[in-house]
Amino acid sequence: MSRTPVAGTPPRRVVIVGGGFAGLFAARALRRRDEFAITLVDRAQHHLFQPLLYQVATGILSEGQIAAPLRDVLKRHRNVECVLAEVVDVDVEARQVVAERPLGERITLPYDDLIVAAGLRQSYFGHDEFAQWAPGMKTIADALAIRRRVFGAFELAETASDPDEQRRWLTFAVVGGGPTGVELAGQIRELATRTLRSEFRRIRPEDARVMLFDGGDAPLASFGPELSAKAANELRELGVELHMGTIVTNVDGEGLETRDRAGTTVRHQAGTVLWAAGVEAPAMAAALAKATGARQDRAGRIEVEPDLTIAGHPEISVVGDLMSRDRLPGVAEVAMQSGLYAGRRIRHRAEVKPIGPFRYHDLGSAAYLSRGNAVVSAGPLKFAGFPGWLAWLFIHIAFLTGFRNRAGAVLTWAAAFARDARRERAFTTQQIERLRDVYGSPRKEDRPPVTS
Ligand SMILES: Cc1cc2nc3c(=O)[nH]c(=O)nc-3n(C[C@H](O)[C@H](O)[C@H](O)COP(=O)(O)OP(=O)(O)OC[C@H]3O[C@@H](n4cnc5c(N)ncnc54)[C@H](O)[C@@H]3O)c2cc1C
Repeated sequence: MSRTPVAGTPPRRVVIVGGGFAGLFAARALRRRDEFAITLVDRAQHHLFQPLLYQVATGILSEGQIAAPLRDVLKRHRNVECVLAEVVDVDVEARQVVAERPLGERITLPYDDLIVAAGLRQSYFGHDEFAQWAPGMKTIADALAIRRRVFGAFELAETASDPDEQRRWLTFAVVGGGPTGVELAGQIRELATRTLRSEFRRIRPEDARVMLFDGGDAPLASFGPELSAKAANELRELGVELHMGTIVTNVDGEGLETRDRAGTTVRHQAGTVLWAAGVEAPAMAAALAKATGARQDRAGRIEVEPDLTIAGHPEISVVGDLMSRDRLPGVAEVAMQSGLYAGRRIRHRAEVKPIGPFRYHDLGSAAYLSRGNAVVSAGPLKFAGFPGWLAWLFIHIAFLTGFRNRAGAVLTWAAAFARDARRERAFTTQQIERLRDVYGSPRKEDRPPVTS
């Protein structure tokens, strides 16, 4: 229900940085309340459902099915304005956010309350040089880069005349044994053994080697020993080679180097290396910490108080993956609940009503292994195999943003399940990673000067 602000009182200005799960749920908590004027600033124009990125990367879903334009998602919330810009700093004294528009021009967004929900980015543990050879998976650009590399590798193998080169293109290395790495590794084997099986004339796609590397003892360790063991068995059955207790020490254009716990170093030739191993805070987190004196944990997440604000700054909340509190995991459910809480807290504050500390209700986690096979852990309930897959399906249909995306994904999954069809395999060789590459001139001197 909308509340009319007291005559003559301007609406309270709320700036939300990031339109991921946390930012979107914060905006929803304040929707249709005329006493708030909300600006949602994101460097992307869409809300992205990251848990299904691997399906875009492996040709099942299109990028549009997992990314909804923020303006479309929020079109009925008249008090929400969307701004396409990248936040680079926060001026705590002046209470304004400093952001860069796609061509580099600086703008400022004043706030009474600020919610920072900027998420995390891929971490290469101090080896950013690996990124050029081993794309991570956080954005649509990443998923499309992986799609290009995975399907491109089969093409390159088909036309390679040197058997060693052919073998190298048919070798895939996935780094990181969490849900993303496991899903990617399983999907590459599945597409090689099912979808691509009869499409090539010179190579046998089913001969593709997929290696999964992780420094821990088992894949999906966070799901507990029972589900982790089931996942390991299923991956082996799919033909994924598990290299546990192994860390990656180097990646280059020809493959990667690893070291096991005994200190043995091994070189693996691989045409495709994919990185799903770690996350870290984006650059704006350091700027925020500097401006507010907030502490950051090892990954750069911002430490917050029980009400998710920065100590000494009740006007600034940090939510979702970027907040560090009680060792909460970086999962969508934490992001949604913390975003909702931050929005409600601002409402309570405006109404001078008390609100208790943030409490997280753990609803569990899920990982897709192969067609009709997933693991789901929800409190005491553990599902694997087909029941796990049904639970996985239900969760993802329920949480995908937008009815059209839900309906589209269900139809696509039905076709993929019944006929091994992967309709979204097109890729181009154009490298478009940043908005600047789309709108900006390739020549630096042609760009307008940066103004503040
Ligand atoms: C491949 C993958 C698979 C996953 N699978 C699962 C799963 O199965 N289950 C699960 O629960 N969770 C999963 N997660 C985790 C889940 O997606 C995250 O926990 C969740 O997205 C966090 O939400 P958030 O809003 O905090 O951040 P994000 O969703 O990352 O959103 C952050 C937003 O901030 C924007 N942004 C960042 N920096 C700036 C800036 N400087 N200026 C302006 N905007 C900015 C970004 O464009 C983005 O829109 C997965 C994540 C990935 C990457």
